[in-house]
Amino acid sequence: MSRLTDINYVKGVLGRHGFTFSKALGQNFLVNPSVCPRMAQLSGADADTGVIEIGPGAGVLTAELARLSHKVVAVELDKRLLPVLEETLSEFDNVSIVNADAMKLDMIKLIKDHFGSGEVVVCANLPYYITSPLLMKLLEERLPVSSITVMVQKEAAERICACPGTRASGAISAAVHYYCEPEVLFKVSPGSFIPPPKVDSAVIKLNILKEPPVKAADEKLFFRIIKAAFMQRRKTLANSLSAGLSLPKQTVSAILSAAGIKPAARAEEMSMQQFADITQAAFQVL
Ligand code: SAM
Repeated sequence: MSRLTDINYVKGVLGRHGFTFSKALGQNFLVNPSVCPRMAQLSGADADTGVIEIGPGAGVLTAELARLSHKVVAVELDKRLLPVLEETLSEFDNVSIVNADAMKLDMIKLIKDHFGSGEVVVCANLPYYITSPLLMKLLEERLPVSSITVMVQKEAAERICACPGTRASGAISAAVHYYCEPEVLFKVSPGSFIPPPKVDSAVIKLNILKEPPVKAADEKLFFRIIKAAFMQRRKTLANSLSAGLSLPKQTVSAILSAAGIKPAARAEEMSMQQFADITQAAFQVL
């Protein structure tokens, strides 16, 4: 068992460095001994696969990844954790810590600089305040990685992994299914962290697809349409698209009709192919 899941050890190290948890930075550190080894193993990290981690915290997941992979590059925003990580990860010579904001970092360059063209996966216990924008950034940039394994809030996990066309789906489900095949791996209870978060968590894996499952006439427009469609999810598709795309109702009706979709349909009923059909029809008109 890693000493980094021993609450007294972790509290001792953090205390010695004068560290206090920041809610704003989503700092809930894992102390359940079974979670990180499982997560690291399911991420696909191995001797031939490098790992990018976001938010190493005190290094509990980083250590498990470093045991499996030939190299781990961990991006941590909070400067106060740098001396902590230096101490907790001192036994590993295959870990590089990068002090940066993962939302602003050029991840493609980071991967090229550290891993060349080798196989890479992302594995992280994400700060929950940036789950969706960060996942979208990683996917939209088309990082050269084969999968992204992350801990997120359970509700976010369900939304992200929901199939488009089902009730639980949202804009993020459609966007995620364009780039990957998502799966929920396992649930994690609040007691697995210090301090415990207010909600349940889940580990999900996004297996990156080589090709999107549908052909969008224009990717930017495809994502604008998805976003607009779900902006007012209780409204009909015709109303949401008209408001979200700032288009007259008549134009939207013509687009939907050309795509073979009833104006009274709702965003959550749309499959990926139907979003692609709407994009195709809108592309001709706009
Ligand atoms: N991996 C550790 C664990 O599992 O115990 C810590 C996970 S904690 C939920 C999230 C971590 O992300 C914290 O260490 C926090 O400082 C860091 N963080 C927050 N915002 C960040 C950002 N924009 N870029 C990089 N790291 C960030």
